[in-house]
Amino acid sequence: MRQSLIMGNWKMNGNLQDGQQLAKALAEGLGEVQQEVAVCVPFVYLSGIRDVLASSPIALGAQNVADQASGAYTGEVSATMLADIGAKYALVGHSERRSYYGDTNQTVANRFCQAQKQNVIPVLCVGETLEEREQDRTFQVVDEQLDAVIDAAGIEAFANAVIAYEPVWAIGTGKTASDDQAQEVHKYIRERIAARSQAIADKVQILYGGSVKADNAKALFAMPDIDGGLVGGASLDAKGFLQICHSV
Ligand code: PEP
Repeated sequence: MRQSLIMGNWKMNGNLQDGQQLAKALAEGLGEVQQEVAVCVPFVYLSGIRDVLASSPIALGAQNVADQASGAYTGEVSATMLADIGAKYALVGHSERRSYYGDTNQTVANRFCQAQKQNVIPVLCVGETLEEREQDRTFQVVDEQLDAVIDAAGIEAFANAVIAYEPVWAIGTGKTASDDQAQEVHKYIRERIAARSQAIADKVQILYGGSVKADNAKALFAMPDIDGGLVGGASLDAKGFLQICHSV
């Protein structure tokens, strides 16, 4: 039985005070849960949010990680630094990084490997654009995104990684993939992993992301291959995010 994981992605929103208030409300409101809960916060607020979450089970994540280990890479934040500050997770290949900041399947694979080397769990984001879906290329795109990482890191690496299927057309748009649409791709991803290792396919958590809200979370999370969610906009509201956390 896979443990569910609900992960908030705060993106580039708010200030330190907002983040600390939100973290405090989550820590106080979560109560007893079986599932794991995490929040991916802006780099500069990692330590400030870590301090608020210190006595709660909510884990800390970053929204990206450098594709190099260390050195002359001005503006980057390494996996060593993330581990040092207490980040358990790092998103890699979020579609906003792929589309606005030039992330490619290769740089995403490098980020994934760097995170794992420092025991920061990479959350590999994959998903197709609307155009790719309309061209019936969803599986091909997901294959390419996954294979780049499998080739670089090996299938065993997925024993200690999370995958997030996030159809780009559903991110921040209010359009959610239907439960069946999401399940279809999740199942496909799990089968693709199973073709290389059934044990890892059985274990790897595959999250759904794309306009998850309190009113659609329960049905999505009930699908057999959906192990939780990566939640953007709705994670900025404590009450709504806690409802999502309790929808598993
Ligand atoms: C995300 O940022 O990964 C995301 C899924 O955003 P939203 O929930 O706002 O669509």
